[in-house]
Amino acid sequence: MSICYVCGKDISKNEVGLTKKLINKNAKDFYCLSCLAEYLEVTEEELKDKIEEFKDEGCSLFQ
Ligand SMILES: [Zn+2]
Repeated sequence: MSICYVCGKDISKNEVGLTKKLINKNAKDFYCLSCLAEYLEVTEEELKDKIEEFKDEGCSLFQ
């Protein structure tokens, strides 16, 4: 189990995957959806759409 680097909230495999995909594939610090949205200056909805896109591509970082 991983926690958000910013707020300490438990995060899902998808949030870990999204941090790797959007920030750095070797990232060791992970972000929850809301902190990642703030960091990237996008909305949580846009990030959820991204998760769906990566899942559709069959990316193993997502479930
Ligand atoms: Zn957070």
